[in-house]
Amino acid sequence: MEDYGQKVFVGAVADKYLGKYGESSALLKDHSWVKDQAKAEKVAAALLDWGRDSNATVFTHWFQPLGANGVRHGQTGQVHNYMFTFGADGKPCFKFKAGELLRGETDGSSYPNGGLRATHTAGAYTVLDPTSPIFILDDTIYAPTIFISYHGQSLDEKIPLLRSEQAMSAQCVRLLKLMGHTTAGVQSNIGLEQEFFLIPRDSYDRRPDLQQCGRTILGKMPPRGQEMCDHYMAPLNQHALNCLREIQHEAFKLGIPLKTRHREVAPNQYEMAPYFGHVTSQIDQNLLVMQLCEEIAAKYELAALFQEKPFSGVNGSGKHNNWSLGTKEGLNLMNAGQVAEVTGNLDIFPVLIAAVVTAVDKHSDLMRAAIADPGNDFRLGAMEAPPSIISTYLGDSLTEYLEGFKGGKRGEYKPKPRTVDTGCDLFGTLEVPTEDRNRTSPFPYGGHRFEFRAVGSAQNVSMVNTVLNTICADAFKEFADKIEGGMKADDVAAEALKEHWKIIFNGNGYSEEWKAEAGKRGLCRIDSGVEAMEQLGAEKNLEMFAKLGVMSKEELLARRDIALQHYTGLVEIEAGCMIDMITQNIVPSVKETGISTAQMEAECAKVKAKYEELEHEEDPLKKAKIARELRLDVMANARKVVDEVESICPAKSWPFATYRDLLFLD
Ligand code: ADP
Ligand code: MG
Repeated sequence: MEDYGQKVFVGAVADKYLGKYGESSALLKDHSWVKDQAKAEKVAAALLDWGRDSNATVFTHWFQPLGANGVRHGQTGQVHNYMFTFGADGKPCFKFKAGELLRGETDGSSYPNGGLRATHTAGAYTVLDPTSPIFILDDTIYAPTIFISYHGQSLDEKIPLLRSEQAMSAQCVRLLKLMGHTTAGVQSNIGLEQEFFLIPRDSYDRRPDLQQCGRTILGKMPPRGQEMCDHYMAPLNQHALNCLREIQHEAFKLGIPLKTRHREVAPNQYEMAPYFGHVTSQIDQNLLVMQLCEEIAAKYELAALFQEKPFSGVNGSGKHNNWSLGTKEGLNLMNAGQVAEVTGNLDIFPVLIAAVVTAVDKHSDLMRAAIADPGNDFRLGAMEAPPSIISTYLGDSLTEYLEGFKGGKRGEYKPKPRTVDTGCDLFGTLEVPTEDRNRTSPFPYGGHRFEFRAVGSAQNVSMVNTVLNTICADAFKEFADKIEGGMKADDVAAEALKEHWKIIFNGNGYSEEWKAEAGKRGLCRIDSGVEAMEQLGAEKNLEMFAKLGVMSKEELLARRDIALQHYTGLVEIEAGCMIDMITQNIVPSVKETGISTAQMEAECAKVKAKYEELEHEEDPLKKAKIARELRLDVMANARKVVDEVESICPAKSWPFATYRDLLFLD
């Protein structure tokens, strides 16, 4: 705890260094300092002092370029500058000015941009984002920024997120005001439960597929997987524990409240989660945590894997996006009791929940699109993560209350107290939360928050939260417009609940019956990630994002194209890797044992043929569809044959680390 926050420029650290210039950390809380040259000069001077005391004399803007939703590294962009100049005497001396702190002009024209920039009009700028703190890693001061084109188009993950929060806040403030509650603004708060694998580094080094694709594209399961459920929440392997401890400690230094650690269901799978907080800094911190995990794991002879499905046959990894809306004054708008107490208006909570229900029902396609990370192809609907049908679980108590509300009943929502009898006098009866857990719902309400559970582990969750903010802004606007038009707020909510009730589902989302039932209800179901990405280009979505000032049509279409290209690019790497592994390593080794390789070679030829077909296609959507077929059919068939050969091949002749080597650390 002693060095908690030592590497982040907020609180006591900022007080200490800004004090010399007659300011304090309060200056940073009011984001307007970035528009005030004199104040910005003070911050720059304080940062230089802090950096020199901390052996950090390099400065960089730190941004989140589009299309960098990778499985390894590269999720953030940075160009380092040493903070020095030459004095009149010709000698080098330290120098750092507000201009460099606030703005940067960068090239970065090699990033995918979906047509937003041509190389001959490639001007782009980084601009400091004051909502997320400046921090130090090694010898460098990092300042989070946005990344915007010469023509004002967002080239990054962050601008749409900030714009979406602005839109959501404006509409929510307006709606609350119409219901008699005044607030300075509304923000979205999230807490991310990050799952990942930690595997032995030496085995990882003997897996070209893990190194290049982030997942195994071949490999037979050993007899023992997760059948016994003996990994879940088990005592931590000592080696992994040391690594997690250091990750936590480094996170603490950076002011990242990484509170929880435990083992997950699959062998060598872990989870860490912080205390929740404001969406922009939480996302920045999550990107940092992923980077720390990769770097620190290497020190412990481990490799950290964030891809959603690194191993077939055991659970994949997700990143639960716990989400709520709160006022600037600290009121959690998803907490019925608090809302009633602070606002004194019993209708506000049900009206807000009705708006969320409306948002989810009207735009479930967008929620699906936001989680269409290539690795999520292998998780969604695979009995381990929620299916590709978006619905929301509200729990019996809230559902019953809203049922009444819809039918004209009014009054406070008071979750019914529940008790559990332990049957043991020592404990007696326990009071428990009203809301049960439903782990089969993609978007359950959990008392004081919603939890978007279907998010992929490797994702930068900016788009996920941009979508949540925007669809809520849209619903809040619709409600506020109707109230201004003369309708009563509770009637607006009741009417919306009637119309969108079908999106509420409290049962088992993994069951076969639900698939049929969801079909009957006419809910949107998009099994394929590629088709989900395509939804970004749907007219209703283009219009909504543009209308609310979150993204222009061009910006959204660029994102669709980048997502499709990213998918195709990854599959190309996977297929190329499979061809190499079979041709260069497996076939020669297996041949020496006398086992036939004919069938395997035939399957490999099919992979090559499909790969060629992919290369000859020009249209991004058609290309992505061929890539999906290549990945989920042709490569999967080839894998079956190779895995069978692995099962009969003498262990010493198999040229790669096996699943047993990769999955069992202890
Ligand atoms: P579980 O979902 O397994 O119960 P936890 O209780 O540890 O997991 O909580 C998961 C995450 O949800 C944590 O990061 C926590 O801080 C976050 N969280 C809790 N309350 C809220 C809230 N009101 N808004 C956003 N996130 C929240
Ligand atoms: Mg959870």
